[in-house]
Amino acid sequence: MKNLIFTLSALFILALVSSCQDDKTMYVENNTFQEICDNYPTAINAKLPLSDVSDDWFQVYESHNGVYSIIEPYQFQVSISHLIIGDDRAVLFDTGMGIFPIRPIVERITQLPIVVLNSHTHFDHVGGNAEFTDVLAINSVYTKTNMMGFEHDEIASDVIPEAFCGESPAGFDVEVYHTKPWSASKYIEDGDIIDLGGRILEVLHVPGHTPDAITLLDAKNRLLFTGDTFYDDNLWLFAPETNLDNYTSSIERLTGIEGDIKYLFGAHTSARVDAGRLSQVKASLEKLRSGKVQPDNKIGKRLIFHVDGVNFVTAQPVLDGKQGDISRGGSGLGSW
Ligand SMILES: [Zn+2]
Repeated sequence: MKNLIFTLSALFILALVSSCQDDKTMYVENNTFQEICDNYPTAINAKLPLSDVSDDWFQVYESHNGVYSIIEPYQFQVSISHLIIGDDRAVLFDTGMGIFPIRPIVERITQLPIVVLNSHTHFDHVGGNAEFTDVLAINSVYTKTNMMGFEHDEIASDVIPEAFCGESPAGFDVEVYHTKPWSASKYIEDGDIIDLGGRILEVLHVPGHTPDAITLLDAKNRLLFTGDTFYDDNLWLFAPETNLDNYTSSIERLTGIEGDIKYLFGAHTSARVDAGRLSQVKASLEKLRSGKVQPDNKIGKRLIFHVDGVNFVTAQPVLDGKQGDISRGGSGLGSW
């Protein structure tokens, strides 16, 4: 594999490559992904110490005291799983794409018992769940459906040749790529406390991007792990399981505590950004929902808006307040 990477337009590229042939053609012609690969790492990640446990697939940044951000930078999602370590155990917040096992990397960082939580159950965050026995989850029908795993056909668009920096990685069979079924060892809900020993995490249930989206608050250290509710890239509010009213309420809730937060850790692209961005999202979201802004681009059913420095990829039914049948689960790649 080439030692190249990408970042900033990860989810915008998702819009370009996802399902139809025209999209793929545009993606290839624009060569955007390769440009991103050639400019890796991003300025933000380059400022963080790169751990020597990194390998050919995972790059691990020491993004705060006792926090390791495990990035998959050679695939356009640039998924990030954060390992948050206490004195007695550690939380692995997401388990990545499932292209290569994540557990060996985690065990190179810590020997403590691992508890897995997912920021939400889209395929690009649960790929390694089956490697672990202690997995906590939100008790929702959407989550339980997603626990059955995602079939190859549902997520094959994410492993086309153009989805990778350079060539697809050696030792990975794109033809059979899927995510494995997993089960919850225990269910969690809003307000639950996870005591890692010397570090307390609070679960905040923030539905919107998906019905089961959560963030983790480390109040003492002033850290907020935001999943796909906020990350430093184009915000994906497209899939039928997204609910814009719920997302708006969740962003409002998080902006209410953002003044007490120093760093935000999202699930794509940048390992860590300074707090303040949630308030920006709130303001841009209000403008988006006012109907006074027009999309800057349309690709199939995807509407791309640039609103005061925040980019949204959404769909008209989402903007109209509709939500698909969440009992059927959803990989994040489903279309209206
Ligand atoms: Zn997602």
